[in-house]
Amino acid sequence: MINIVLFGKPGAGKGTQAEFLKGKYNLTHISTGDVFRYNLKNDTELGKLARTYMDAGDLVPDELTIKMLQDEVEKHHDTKGFLFDGFPRTIAQAGALDAFLSTKNWEVTATIALEADDEILIQRLLERGKTSGRVDDQDEDKIRNRYQEYNEKTAPLMEYYQKQNKFYPVNGIGSIVEITERLSKVIETL
Ligand code: AMP
Repeated sequence: MINIVLFGKPGAGKGTQAEFLKGKYNLTHISTGDVFRYNLKNDTELGKLARTYMDAGDLVPDELTIKMLQDEVEKHHDTKGFLFDGFPRTIAQAGALDAFLSTKNWEVTATIALEADDEILIQRLLERGKTSGRVDDQDEDKIRNRYQEYNEKTAPLMEYYQKQNKFYPVNGIGSIVEITERLSKVIETL
């Protein structure tokens, strides 16, 4: 069992890389952003609760997010491992993930961070917004709010995982193939 947290700012390429890595290493990919968007599209109870936060570029409250993540993990009990994409994003979520995985004798094996400069990523998100249909990618103020959320609530997780010797930074600038290779090098040492 290997459980990888793919870490990085909005637009860093977590989703793109997860698409390659899940097949290569036979991992179950859970993107909390994708699960929320699915619920928004289908207008479920969870979607209704999450919509205002997502549209504004705010994080969805921990309690809702943690419950949703646990439900997703429970659906894939026979997996060889998980690739968590966009979760955890707060210290409370990281603590809840550790506690939840330990009830199954599992743990986070490594957190791999895709690193890139804010201004490059903001331009990348605005480009993506032209075709992705995501309202949170179309407005520079909302994008900047997502960065503020990241800096305040998510960035402290780097230290959380460094303290556990589980934090692996990777240069997130380059071609998709180059970055997949950089991530693969880390995964193969685990
Ligand atoms: P993403 O696709 O990962 O950029 O996520 C899109 C949006 O979904 C975020 O801006 C949040 O509103 C919400 N979201 C996704 N994952 C989380 C999380 N772990 N905690 C709180 N909100 C989240």
